[in-house]
Amino acid sequence: MQGAGSVVAPVILREIFSSIQGEGPYVGCRHLFVRFVGCNLACAYCDTPREVPMKCRVEMKPGTGNFVTIPNPLTPEEVGVLISGLNVARHHAVSLTGGEPLLNPDFIRELIPLLHGAHRGIYLETNGTLVEELEAVVDLVDVISMDIKLPTATGMEALWEVHRRFLQIARTKEVILKAVVAAETPPEEVLAAAELARTAGSVLVLQPVTGRAPEESPAPAELLKLQARALEITGDVRVIPQVHRLCGML
Ligand code: SF4
Repeated sequence: MQGAGSVVAPVILREIFSSIQGEGPYVGCRHLFVRFVGCNLACAYCDTPREVPMKCRVEMKPGTGNFVTIPNPLTPEEVGVLISGLNVARHHAVSLTGGEPLLNPDFIRELIPLLHGAHRGIYLETNGTLVEELEAVVDLVDVISMDIKLPTATGMEALWEVHRRFLQIARTKEVILKAVVAAETPPEEVLAAAELARTAGSVLVLQPVTGRAPEESPAPAELLKLQARALEITGDVRVIPQVHRLCGML
């Protein structure tokens, strides 16, 4: 069902569903999630399934947990039709999430104009590393929620420079910066994240590891100390765990 003249390749999606936004300053808001498959990074703590699904799960009645499965891949037009039946207007935003949604910039460019009606528009959840891909879609996005990948949490090399370039492109939009902090996260990495937030003029959310063994997360006193030190650098630093996990939601 590709649209007339459309040359965008269909993509494989994992699921489309309605739940609360579980991370960051909009925690608790109702979002309609479109979850893409695949990622350009390989974080040590990643719990995103790696297998490529033959079918996309779609929650036809938002929030009920009753899914139907639709064969992959899907065109932007097919996703637009599916989402138009999911009461978009009752949602704070349509959240493009993953994996890493920016692996599919052409698809996203065609999809977003088909997603009308959410109160705050389009909310992009990204790992903040695909600069050119963001440039290709940034005019269509309303909120950019970017993970800062701290080297000790991801087990990868530092990504500060690419994050800086990404934020240069993102700065015309509302930007939310989040960093997962674990028990072993060095304060220097949190302070570097605070510097990034100061430069970007955005909120910094410190997200303690949630839903794992308690010892994997920083102790409460340590979290408060990290927040206090980050607040010496930038004005808005919040400690917010992954609330959807605490509630047992998707
Ligand atoms: S960026 Fe996200 S999806 Fe990609 S590997 Fe890291 S945690 Fe997993």
